[in-house]
Amino acid sequence: MNDCIFCKIIAGEIPSKKAYEDDTVLAFYDLSPQAPVHILVIPKAHITSAADITGDNSAVVAHIFEVIASLTKQLGLNDGFRVVTNIGDSAGQSVKHLHYHLLGGRDFTWPPG
Ligand code: 5GP
Ligand code: ZN
Repeated sequence: MNDCIFCKIIAGEIPSKKAYEDDTVLAFYDLSPQAPVHILVIPKAHITSAADITGDNSAVVAHIFEVIASLTKQLGLNDGFRVVTNIGDSAGQSVKHLHYHLLGGRDFTWPPG
């Protein structure tokens, strides 16, 4: 039914280097890092993108941000970091399972490209 690659990573069918895992959230290192620290934080439930967050599934999003705050402390990203979520094709979302890019370890420009 589901050929989503992030669902396959959650199921262990595709290997990943995990940074954090619990019952509802998984964090794993991006295969193609864009910064010295580049972790993807995802809900275990399949949500297509942030455009599909509703009152029924939003609790996991709060939990994702708790995980991000904890991970960044653990990783020593005390000078700052960036969290990005791409939504849809024009934003460059290549995997249609909600994910937050956690990027750190370098400076970032604003506005993004
Ligand atoms: P998007 O472009 O959708 O915002 O981000 C998808 C991210 O998933 C990309 O940064 C890409 O490098 C990463 N990615 C795609 N496939 C895999 C995979 O199989 N394993 C891991 N660890 N990262 C992946
Ligand atoms: Zn999925």
